[in-house]
Amino acid sequence: MPENLSEQITDTTPSAVTEATAAAPAAAPEDDGVDIRFTDLNLDGRVLAALTDVGYEKPSPIQAATIPALLEGRDVVGLAQTGTGKTAAFAIPALSKMAELADINGGPSKNTQVLVLAPTRELALQVAEAFTSYAKHMEGFTVLPVYGGSPYGPQLNGLRRGAQVVVGTPGRVIDHIEKGSLDLSNLEYVVLDEADEMLRMGFAEDVEKILSSTPDEKQVALFSATMPPAIRRIAKKYLNDPAEISVKGKTTTGTNTRQRYLQVMGPHKLDAMTRILEVEDYDGIIAFVRTKMATEDLADKLRSRGFSAAAINGDIPQQQRERTVEALRDGKIDILVATDVAARGLDVDRISLVVNYDIPHDTESYVHRIGRTGRAGRSGDAILFITPREKYLLRSIEKATRQPVEQMQLPSTAKINELRLNKFAEKITKTLATEDVSLFRDLIANYEREHDVPAAEIAAALAIMAQGGQPILVQDIPVAPAGQRERAEGRKDAFGSRGPTRTLTEGNATYRIAVGRRQRVMPGSIVGAIANEGGISSSQIGGIDIRADHSLVELPADLSKDQLRALSRTRIGGELIHLELDKGRKPSGNRGAGEFKKPFKKDFPKRDGDTRFSGDASRKPRHGKGAGAGAGRSNAQSEQW
Ligand code: ADP
Ligand code: MG
Repeated sequence: MPENLSEQITDTTPSAVTEATAAAPAAAPEDDGVDIRFTDLNLDGRVLAALTDVGYEKPSPIQAATIPALLEGRDVVGLAQTGTGKTAAFAIPALSKMAELADINGGPSKNTQVLVLAPTRELALQVAEAFTSYAKHMEGFTVLPVYGGSPYGPQLNGLRRGAQVVVGTPGRVIDHIEKGSLDLSNLEYVVLDEADEMLRMGFAEDVEKILSSTPDEKQVALFSATMPPAIRRIAKKYLNDPAEISVKGKTTTGTNTRQRYLQVMGPHKLDAMTRILEVEDYDGIIAFVRTKMATEDLADKLRSRGFSAAAINGDIPQQQRERTVEALRDGKIDILVATDVAARGLDVDRISLVVNYDIPHDTESYVHRIGRTGRAGRSGDAILFITPREKYLLRSIEKATRQPVEQMQLPSTAKINELRLNKFAEKITKTLATEDVSLFRDLIANYEREHDVPAAEIAAALAIMAQGGQPILVQDIPVAPAGQRERAEGRKDAFGSRGPTRTLTEGNATYRIAVGRRQRVMPGSIVGAIANEGGISSSQIGGIDIRADHSLVELPADLSKDQLRALSRTRIGGELIHLELDKGRKPSGNRGAGEFKKPFKKDFPKRDGDTRFSGDASRKPRHGKGAGAGAGRSNAQSEQW
């Protein structure tokens, strides 16, 4: 063993340190030692003054590169990762130009001069806010966000009054164009912000439609974190000899790890896992689960299905953990089932596949987890199990890793069975070739004669014995059709089937947790956290009432000390929940109606309206992808869930 294992287990690797920094809020985008200052860039004085107000000292690399090109009037394609300051990269030159135009024309134009398209309501609002702050000293200048899922009235009024800068989601922008409320005929400058995200959300057609209804003489800037072919095509079609500016930032994960996800419902995870193990080529595997208990549980189940698996978690003594890791390194076991804590910094070259059996608590953990493979220059694979309701978290993961996570399909029953039958046949062939079968052959021959049973029948009986009671063929895993799946699960997870809880079930008590609407908790995350950390079955969790800054949860009155201790340390979205009995309420049957007065369903996240992850809700029926696609901020808060 080359190094001290205890170090490997407790230390964070150097790459982990960069990962952590990368996830921190971007106070100032990566300082690559650019020595240009904003004052060197020929910007309008009013814009410069606003930059001083917001405290920007010098341009970020992407800004330093794109601002001069945009001021010159060139079309620009700007590629840089999240958090590198792309908004200001297009907003500052746009405003500077508009300010100068206003001077020439003796006052700001009444027309919409700048149009920014952004993928989500949240991003549109953020961009509009940024524009507003940079335009602070520009008199008579208005920035108007327009996005779906909110009433038309105020937006119509705003457009009627005139806004030089309109920032909108594609769907709503088209609506306004079609209604005649948004006139783009005097447009000077169009920006496609987070272009890759827009395409991913299915806005390609809308974006093209908008672009083709703008005047020919205009400047176009396209900003994106990645450059998939579809974006290249749009750039080619709608941009005029663009300056392509690409700023390399650090990627948090090695590109030699392929990331995939499998949509699977909780109860089918184990079957999904075993199917994957049957078809994937792997060397060593690490499977991550949320709780210590789950590590033992999954390792047991895998062993009973014939895989060589072992658990490591924080409760297992250090020495034993070291032995287990050593066994994995030596190939004595193939699968390590671990919690995030126990596997921190784990460095075993043999690990070729990371299975995120339970989705991690935040993107940073995800990055750590998949960093356990693809080591020492090898290639690695990462598979994420994701329940339909967790699916909206994918975007944040892709943002954090700056890599796409491809969908994978569960290996089909037919494929698995074919493999199994082949293996079965191979085993017979191999045994015949390598073993001395004479003794058994005589026994069988005797049996055949004495019982007058054909040899094939006898062989079949022996095969059943050899299977040790395990069926050789797998059964289909029931999966609801795509559309229904989410609803079906939603219903189950939301225990809507229990209906609104008005009175406590006998034997239950009301507990209070210190997170509520303000912390943006959702019933699903409460159930998940309590079930996982408290080892409580979700069927034991009753009504949930999410209040402004706390929530009430109905749980068994007789929780053990251990469960209470675990739950008091549990976090949801990074916040300790401080679970405690709700004071003044007896842990017994009867309590007046109205305690959980809100039917639970109402609390269930309406994702269309969820400001963090909402898409352009008004277009949702057409695109079907709007909701749930990521809100693209890389600040620490939005990367936690
Ligand atoms: P991106 O669009 O590339 O993801 P943003 O435009 O949202 O990044 O900027 C990320 C953060 O950096 C924002 O909080 C923004 O206010 C800040 N920022 C942008 N430019 C500068 C700068 N030149 N100096 C300091 N902070 C900046
Ligand atoms: Mg941005």
